[in-house]
Amino acid sequence: MNHLDSLQYNVAGLLTGPRGGTRTHQLYVPVSELDQLDEDFDVVEPFQGTARFLWTNEHILVLVEGDTAVSMRCARCLEPFIRPVHVSIEEAFIPTVDMATGLPIHQDESDTAVLIDEHHILDLSEILRQAILLALPLTPLCRPDCKGLCPICGANLNHETCTCTTEEIDPRWAKLQFLLEK
Ligand SMILES: [Zn+2]
Ligand SMILES: [Zn+2]
Repeated sequence: MNHLDSLQYNVAGLLTGPRGGTRTHQLYVPVSELDQLDEDFDVVEPFQGTARFLWTNEHILVLVEGDTAVSMRCARCLEPFIRPVHVSIEEAFIPTVDMATGLPIHQDESDTAVLIDEHHILDLSEILRQAILLALPLTPLCRPDCKGLCPICGANLNHETCTCTTEEIDPRWAKLQFLLEK
């Protein structure tokens, strides 16, 4: 995902202010900026929520709560469906420049997504994208009791019944069934 203007915040004021300073931002990210999360998931509603920033004198603690909706495909019946997704993020963003001296602060933080850049921009884009992906189910189901597809004829068993299961019975079970019917 590209860096989103709507998720970039200049935090110079917070970084030069006293420890314990806070900012609250309303978040609104249009679908056009988030839509393609990866090949299996599409965001279909704007992301809306709140971001709270807290300056601890070492980092800015960011708390995000928000909601969107994602279109996905059922793992059993393969039908597309839409699922509301709630995102809850708690992340420490680390300054890379000392505000008093203007000198770079060496960081060995490997995740560049949580670094505040040299222009004091805190960028929530990548963190939000990761959080939405993490909030998605590993095995998406259109409903918990989805009956899936018939493995023989491919009929969607949520909508229709087929006759395959009785006709194509495993021969070992056929023998048992024969005994039961006697
Ligand atoms: Zn399904
Ligand atoms: Zn069938």
